Amino acid sequence: MRKNILDFTLRELEEQILGLGEKKFRASQIFRQLHNKNIRNFDELKNIPKEFIGKIKDTFILEYLELLDIKKSSLDKTKKFLFQIPETKDKIESVLISEKDRNTICVSTQAGCNAGCEFCATGKIGFKKNLSAGEILAQIYTVSMEIGEKPTNIVYMGMGEPLLNYHEVIRSVEKISGESGLAMSPQRITVSTVGIAPMIRRLGDDQVKFNLALSLHSAINEKRNQIIPYNLRNSLGDLVEAVRHFHDRTKTRITIEYVMLKEFNDNMEDAKALADFCRNFPVKVNLIQYNPVENSPYQDSGKDRTEAFKEYLDRLNMVVNIRRSRGKDIDAACGQLANKLIHNNS
Ligand code: SAH
Ligand code: SF4
Repeated sequence: MRKNILDFTLRELEEQILGLGEKKFRASQIFRQLHNKNIRNFDELKNIPKEFIGKIKDTFILEYLELLDIKKSSLDKTKKFLFQIPETKDKIESVLISEKDRNTICVSTQAGCNAGCEFCATGKIGFKKNLSAGEILAQIYTVSMEIGEKPTNIVYMGMGEPLLNYHEVIRSVEKISGESGLAMSPQRITVSTVGIAPMIRRLGDDQVKFNLALSLHSAINEKRNQIIPYNLRNSLGDLVEAVRHFHDRTKTRITIEYVMLKEFNDNMEDAKALADFCRNFPVKVNLIQYNPVENSPYQDSGKDRTEAFKEYLDRLNMVVNIRRSRGKDIDAACGQLANKLIHNNS
């Protein structure tokens, strides 16, 4: 079976090209045009002999995701892109958040997710498929082609749990930050995780350079168990150890994400537990507005309770931001991805 050329790293492509009896430099020539110029079919390849293009076509396919729909928010400039994976027909979504001086693309790493968090729409679909590095990149290339600009930031916060698709996520980051790819600084890339302790340790061992965001949502173990089933597998204690290890190895400050759930995790005892948790390593905390999803018992904390929570943390000199939601009207906000997919397509 011919493989999708977008899935190959530069080194892998070099091996393949040498295997086809061609010179190694052809690989970087092709790689650059695929990942920097985003060509859509092999006939668009420049400065490559026709015959060799024929050989490439016999060996690889160049497959993008099918773009089914784009929804634009009327509240802000957020756009949501609905894609279909050609082979399996699974649907995934990406979101573009445009601000004054930045275009952030939020990518999916899996179709569905098996972590089953209580407050998340994706969690309700269940797991369908791990995306390949090429499928993660195809989201970025298609969105940037649609807007006619390269992204300034990439966040792995769409559908799925990135650290349960470790290998492909790392390979996609490699290509986004690699010189022959988008050459984006890893500091502009953030990978968000529900908190898979062994994988966080591995990120440390691999000394990754991108930002890590941990979706904490409660620093009280029993409470976190209630909303994040994964917490039953690795407790908060395990997470503290894993993040410590990550910090020792990478020296980077992690981001703690904390969705504000009214009268569930927004009391002062919750703020105190959060502050205690954060004493273990340098962090920045983002308090996130809860976006309603169907059949979920939770409500957003609202402005007053969120500000009181923030003030408690501010008094301890912690770095805390309140994150407002974007693209709410088109279900593009965090955790809302797949709201409509559940009912229409699965
Ligand atoms: N699986 C990863 C990344 C995808 S979810 C993770 O859990 O981190 C991206 C972010 O959206 C996470 O912080 C997640 O907790 C948050 N989120 C999920 N459902 C949400 C909701 N209904 N409202 C606000 N944020 C939500
Ligand atoms: Fe999966 Fe993240 Fe949603 Fe939890 S919050 S179900 S880990 S996508």
